[in-house]
Parts: sequence; C-alpha cells; structure tokens
Amino acid sequence: MSLTRPDLDALPAYVPGRSVPGAIKLASNEVPYGPLPGVVEAVTEAVAGVHRYPDMGVTQLRARLADKLGVDADRIATGCGSVALFEHLFRVACMPGDEAVYAWRSFEAYPIIGATTAATSVRVPNLPNHAHDLDAMAAAITDRTRIVIVCNPNNPTGTAIRRADLDAFIDRVPSNVIVALDEAYREFVTDPEVPDGLEAYGDRPNVVVLRTLSKAWGLAGLRVGYLIGAPEVVAAVRKVVTPFSTSAPAQAAALAALEAEPEMQRRVDLVVSERARVVEAVRKVYPDVPDTQANFFWLPLGDQSAEFAAACERAGVIVRAFQGDGVRVTIGTPEENDAFLGAI
Ligand code: PMP
Repeated sequence: MSLTRPDLDALPAYVPGRSVPGAIKLASNEVPYGPLPGVVEAVTEAVAGVHRYPDMGVTQLRARLADKLGVDADRIATGCGSVALFEHLFRVACMPGDEAVYAWRSFEAYPIIGATTAATSVRVPNLPNHAHDLDAMAAAITDRTRIVIVCNPNNPTGTAIRRADLDAFIDRVPSNVIVALDEAYREFVTDPEVPDGLEAYGDRPNVVVLRTLSKAWGLAGLRVGYLIGAPEVVAAVRKVVTPFSTSAPAQAAALAALEAEPEMQRRVDLVVSERARVVEAVRKVYPDVPDTQANFFWLPLGDQSAEFAAACERAGVIVRAFQGDGVRVTIGTPEENDAFLGAI
C-alpha cells in the first residue's frame, strides 16, 4: 500500500539538464552570458527585505509588463516560471475527464502536468520533419477538449510554425477551447513569418500566451514566467496561483532585467548568429538537423541518442538526450560551441 498515488509510478520524472563540475553545460537552454546588468544589484537590495512576504499582486512587475506589451495589467499573471503557469492553466481549464491536446515530442512538463491534474493528455505525434502536425492536432479536438498547446518554437525540436498555418489552426479551434501558445523561446525567433502570438492573436479571448524570463532574459534561477490572456482567464489563474510564488528578489530581478532590453537583444543576436554557424557545421555530419528558431537544435539520432550524449560528456560537454528519440543541444558561447563541434 503506497502513501502516494499509485499511478505516479508510471509517470516519467522531469529530467533537468545535468550540471557536471568542470564540464560545459549545453543541456538546459539557458543563455550563457550571466545575469543582465543591474540584476545582481536589484536582487541584493531586495534580499534585505526577505523577512517580509513579497507583493502577492506582483503589482509593479505586472504594470511594467503591461506597459511593455501594450495590454492592461489585468491581462497578465506571473508565476514561478512559465512551467508553473501551465500547471495553473490546466487546473483552471480541466475538470476530470477533460482533455488537453498537445504535440509530441514537445516540452516534457506537459505530460507530467497532465497526469497530475484532472486533465487527460492527448498527444499528437509530430510530422516527420519534427514540426507540430497542426491538422492532426485540430482533428484531435473533441467536445471534451479544454486546452490545446502550441509550443512555438517547439522544445526540443526547435521547429516553428508560420503565420498562415497558425491562423488556419486557431480558426479551427472552437471558441470554448483555450489555445495556449508556449512562447518560451520567442526572443530567439528571427523568421518574420513566425508570428508573435500576442500581436497576432491577443484579441482572441480563447488565446493565452505564455512567456518566461528564464531564457533570453537570463533569470532561469529566479523563476519568473508570465501569461497574457483574457481578463477572466487571468483572474482564474491568479486565484489558483501558489501564494507568493513570485518572490521579492525575483520581482526585483525581473524589473531590472526588463530595463536591460538592449543588452538582452545583443546577447540574443550573438546566440542567433552562433545558431546559424553551429547548425551549418553540425549538418555536415548530421544532415537531418531540422531548422531551428530557438536557442537550441535537435539531433534526431533515435536509438543512438544516449550513446551520443555519453560520448559528448566524455569530451566535457553536457547535452540533453531524450531516450530513443533525439538529442537537444543548447547554443552556448562561441568557445562552448567550438568544444561541442570538436566533440562531434
Ligand atoms: N515552455 C518551454 C517550451 C520550455 O522549454 C520551458 C523551460 N524549459 C518552459 C516553458 C518553462 O520555463 P520556466 O518555467 O523556466 O519559465
């Protein structure tokens, strides 16, 4: 007799990218250039007040994001990373037996969240080119579906959906089903045909956009994500959000990071130019790497994935293997990327 739910035995655990002392970590889609200017100072100042609870309404940060994004603050919720916001969204959208449709392979947190909330996961296999199969996803929507996730660009394959395809897909989703656009890697998108979900669909009440300060904004360790949606969806999410989960140092750090947008953009530009260089070099050995719009790329190595990652590790580079499927490699500094290229 187990003290916890027996069905958890069958649930894969979230696998974080490993940090190995002395090794180069290209396993967690972080940006390698340290916190943005002003962040360390802001956090240091905020730490002096940590005997008090943070502002639960996250008022200043939500106002700042609202201003930057051109929406009302009542359309924004923050959370302990956008991964937590996905959990909240599932909780507010799905009653027992309701369905959540998402592509697979995609972000590994979705099935974990699906399995531990009321939702039933409906996974739709990606196309042979590793992109979402939007036709099949639309066809998978039933009258039990409450939420459909589009991860754009997709983690871990890096593939992105263009405007015409996403327009057509969203038009097919019934207006009582939430479309959650996961734009964790939005800042790295350079293809002008790939839409900004907020700009393109922000006026649709059933579209929710999720973003994070963990990647381009360099705050992975402080855990700040945000969601933009219709006021009633946002109000529901804010009702179930774990109280005080955006800490005061995290709020201060996020405000400071947002002030450093030009430097964020400079770093993103470096990552994007490295992305082109590295993918071109990798394709000479592994021609099947799909086009990527994120700060990582996908090596569809199938059964050789674990062996490939182990060989990289022996060469001092940690990448992320997805057993039997492929390997995801984060773009690092030019030196780190050279180490990876040397390893392969
Ligand atoms: N969505 C996707 C697609 C991701 O890859 C990640 C991070 N790995 C997240 C959401 C969540 O990021 P965070 O919780 O750090 O905001």
